[in-house]
Amino acid sequence: MANNMEGQAMFAPPAAEGPSAPPAGMFDSMPGYEGTIAGGGGGFLPPPMPSCPVPQPQPGPEQPYWNIPSISEDTARDAFVLYVSSKCCYSSAPAKDGNITNMEAFNTYRYRLETFTESRSTEWSHEPYNGQPVDAYVQPPPGPWDIQAKSPSFFMDNKEIIKVPCTSSLKNCHVCVGMGRRPCTNCVGVGNKVCWVCNGSGFRHGDDRCNHCNGRGRENCNHCHGQGSKQCDTCHGKQQLLVYIRLTVKWTNNCDNYVVEQSSGLKVDNLSKVSGKELFRDSQYMVYPVVGFPDPAVVQAAQRLVNEHQAKYSQTSRILQQRQTIELIPVTKVTYSWKGKSHIYFVYGNEFKVNADDYPATCCCTVM
Ligand SMILES: [Zn+2]
Ligand SMILES: [Zn+2]
Ligand SMILES: [Zn+2]
Repeated sequence: MANNMEGQAMFAPPAAEGPSAPPAGMFDSMPGYEGTIAGGGGGFLPPPMPSCPVPQPQPGPEQPYWNIPSISEDTARDAFVLYVSSKCCYSSAPAKDGNITNMEAFNTYRYRLETFTESRSTEWSHEPYNGQPVDAYVQPPPGPWDIQAKSPSFFMDNKEIIKVPCTSSLKNCHVCVGMGRRPCTNCVGVGNKVCWVCNGSGFRHGDDRCNHCNGRGRENCNHCHGQGSKQCDTCHGKQQLLVYIRLTVKWTNNCDNYVVEQSSGLKVDNLSKVSGKELFRDSQYMVYPVVGFPDPAVVQAAQRLVNEHQAKYSQTSRILQQRQTIELIPVTKVTYSWKGKSHIYFVYGNEFKVNADDYPATCCCTVM
């Protein structure tokens, strides 16, 4: 069969698949950027030492009076009734008619330290050449920490990607070796494939010629429209790439909390979901650990976290701003009696969140 022979003869060796990693020789040596590698996010660059002494943080004025609020019996009961009504199967009777016998405050403090940092990393990158400026070797590139980035909003995570000036050069595309096209992987570069209707014979039902391929036994590849090759994905057919160093500037808000242990029986994890009343807030370039606070555990935590943050974040990034806050988180333990038995629940946070693990009527059907 002549038709089949034609197809056989057109087979080409299988084309390599997928873009290969750029060869190391594609990247020139740039003064100040010698260690830069291609891809993978790049290595973080330590910030340079400051040229003049950094002002040391000073302790602020002591807080003369720390106001400690407490909640009323009505607030506690209302929060409890609301909580019970949110549980589909709880009976509201114990919450509404239970008799509150004791309310005890276990208010606690949360100290929070936020350190807002900027970090910078570089990597070699490339993009299809569309006539962008080629500026490598015009003059030495500016240092990675000398490049102007936008002004960030403090305490908000963000990032900016910048093409390092004076590092852009022109290279032949390494994926298509400057051809702009790559062999089609669907037809291994042939442009046509065995006809799926007649399976390559050119005939159907004995002597009937195949209508789909007009008896050729092969059909055009619809991935490459019969051309056997497709536009190169890496250079978009431009044959050349602009190769440059890419700088990633990343702003991160690093946050740590310390909650003072309290003995109410309410697990401390519950408190991470609520807010408290803010008693103290101090935001500056570098904070001084809070002093004079009535609870020594908070003072100790502040000292520890401020030291930890400065040691941890000044190595690989630049600290732009710190903020420390102290919140008072109200925790009230309520004891009430219901049908002669004593039960407890907790009301906590500004949101008056309720925790009632031993609620006596978790299924309304049983207490009716
Ligand atoms: Zn056919
Ligand atoms: Zn094809
Ligand atoms: Zn290419």
